[in-house]
Amino acid sequence: MKVCVYPGTFDPFTVGHLDILKRAGAIFDHVIAGILINANKKPVFSVEERMHFIESAAKSAAITNFSVESFDGLLVDFCRQKGAGVIVRGLRAVSDYEYELQLAAMNHRLAPDVETVFLMTDARYSYLSSSIVREIGSYGGSITGMIPPEYEKYIAERLLKK
Ligand code: ADP
Repeated sequence: MKVCVYPGTFDPFTVGHLDILKRAGAIFDHVIAGILINANKKPVFSVEERMHFIESAAKSAAITNFSVESFDGLLVDFCRQKGAGVIVRGLRAVSDYEYELQLAAMNHRLAPDVETVFLMTDARYSYLSSSIVREIGSYGGSITGMIPPEYEKYIAERLLKK
């Protein structure tokens, strides 16, 4: 069985993330959405909230071959622990390239047996990021179409309150 890990902060999980999850699910037998717990980042949404967002978005999109887990420490260690030989990352604009290249090269150096695969996002989502959503939402702007509708209202309210 081909298992991949799709890692990210997912703060919050957007329709762009969902697009990548769906594409990965069509290629691999099982996708583990791995929520990275990074002590240096102060996420707005708790791990439990982020897990719930991913699960409800995937359910509505009829994606069934996935699971959601959180992890800290090295991504390659998490992959090995889960028996996943592939890391999936999404690519948007050229601006993602340099950072992703560095990450992939480092992970390859640490674990040559774990391969990184890049999936291009749908052009409609190429300028969408969690940080843009957080910024717009904190000023009360509309985030419709950026966040799966199931929890858009919840996110809009939480961001305004912040
Ligand atoms: P990180 O904090 O690790 O960059 P993110 O949660 O921002 O994590 O993103 C996780 C992954 O999803 C990354 O590979 C990122 O490039 C990808 N991604 C983020 N936004 C989009 C989008 N709009 N379309 C496609 N991929 C995306």
